[in-house]
Amino acid sequence: MNAISSLPNYINGQWLTSNATEYLDVINPATAEILARVPLSPASEVNQATQAAAEAFVSWRRTPATERVQYLFKLKNLLEEHFEDLARTITQECGKTLAESKGEMRRAIENVEIACGIPMMMQGSNLEDIAKGIDEMMIRQPLGVAAVICPFNFPGMIPFWFLPYAIATGNTYIVKPSEKVPLTMQKIFQLIEKTDIPQGVVNLVNGTKAAVDAILDHPQIRAISFVGSTPVAKYIYSRGAANGKRMQCQGGAKNPIIVLPDADIEMTTKIAADSAFGCAGQRCLAASIAVTVGEAKQTFTEAIAETATKRVVGNGLDQGVEMGPVITTQSKTRIEELIQQGAEEGARLLVDGRNPEITGYQQGNFIRPTILQNVNPAGEIARTEIFGPVLSLIHVDSIDQAIALVNSGQYGNMACLFTNSGAAARKFRYEAEAGNIGINIGVAAPMAFFPFSGWKDSFFGDLHGQGNHAVEFFTQTKVVVERWPSNWSRQF
Ligand code: NAD
Repeated sequence: MNAISSLPNYINGQWLTSNATEYLDVINPATAEILARVPLSPASEVNQATQAAAEAFVSWRRTPATERVQYLFKLKNLLEEHFEDLARTITQECGKTLAESKGEMRRAIENVEIACGIPMMMQGSNLEDIAKGIDEMMIRQPLGVAAVICPFNFPGMIPFWFLPYAIATGNTYIVKPSEKVPLTMQKIFQLIEKTDIPQGVVNLVNGTKAAVDAILDHPQIRAISFVGSTPVAKYIYSRGAANGKRMQCQGGAKNPIIVLPDADIEMTTKIAADSAFGCAGQRCLAASIAVTVGEAKQTFTEAIAETATKRVVGNGLDQGVEMGPVITTQSKTRIEELIQQGAEEGARLLVDGRNPEITGYQQGNFIRPTILQNVNPAGEIARTEIFGPVLSLIHVDSIDQAIALVNSGQYGNMACLFTNSGAAARKFRYEAEAGNIGINIGVAAPMAFFPFSGWKDSFFGDLHGQGNHAVEFFTQTKVVVERWPSNWSRQF
């Protein structure tokens, strides 16, 4: 039997064994195999990482942007070289299918590619003669030490919504991965090490609340990005902001999709199923409610029920599997209880995916795709983020009612419309209160060069992750007003 390894932290260019007194098991959600043990690092290790990052900042910010991005070019190549292995690691610790893990890694790499354009993206602006003989310029400078606190559902991609931009703009960085899926970042940091980036520029600290609170309170950490559930996002936003830090906190979601009667039902069903059941519904852009309008009720309901029933569920590493397990046994229990609650609130269990038998994986946290019909829009099931492969169906008579329903939600991460009508699409785009909109798209995930624009309780802060928002977030503007006496020529 192989000994189970305890994961080290990466601080100041060294792999260090944590002094943690507590460890958690990292568990493969498909097989229940213990993959490793992750330390719950104490505050002192966050302090050590911050100290290293603060010291590295002195020369890193003086390193020309063109030189800083060379490390990202190297990292891009290393990520490509180890693409398969990284994708397998994501599947092993997180449960999603290998194809989904590859998609995730592709998105991670895209952010590295975009951040390589920092010499253009970080430029300021200027204007000559704002008054006679006086010029004014705005330049962008890095903040110092920044950190990210990550969720479990995209162990490879989410740190990359921030890290490449943070270091390309001249900051130094600390990553705190989710304690449930720390293995992917271990591997990625081994690759980062191979780029020979100066020590202390990027650091990895594993842990949970003690490490997070130390990040939130450390006076030398200037900016924090968070992605996770809404209650934790609110806590992190408030505590970090109270400590004077620049904060961006992405929270949970409850994403509605609207199906109009003129939608192409075959295409819509395929896309909606991928959105609701892909990654076992554990995507912050997963469709959670489908609102059918008019005649779409019958056609869409029949089609989505059939598709959900046929979806192949199993270990994401196995060929032909279309959906993996949910992350933990606790998560499985919570999702199954919510399904029961939906039924008790009056919904009909059109497809019941609870407690499935998955041959060869009796220990896995599996739930098959589940569909609840006639869900009460005011009930718990329609309001709560389930974060599992559960789709609620609600029926209304008009697009206005559907948009009103979308806008009544607490969250605003994504809303999608399926239609053949340009006018309906424009109305929806204009009126829907969500930051990421899909028109005949089921997972409206912004590419790396657009901001990931959650609204309402899906986001706390001003500047989002990725693209130009990331550049703004990781830099502070400095305005210089200059006058040079015109008699200088007489001195020479
Ligand atoms: P989570 O909120 O439980 O944990 C996220 C991070 O916060 C982890 O690193 C965890 O260690 C830390 N944490 C948890 N509780 C804490 C506490 N009390 N104090 C300090 N730190 C704490 O989220 P999760 O279960 O890992 O991820 C799923 C959630 O993330 C879902 O709600 C999902 O919608 C959301 N999510 C949102 C987006 C987005 O872009 N808006 C993207 C991905 C995931």
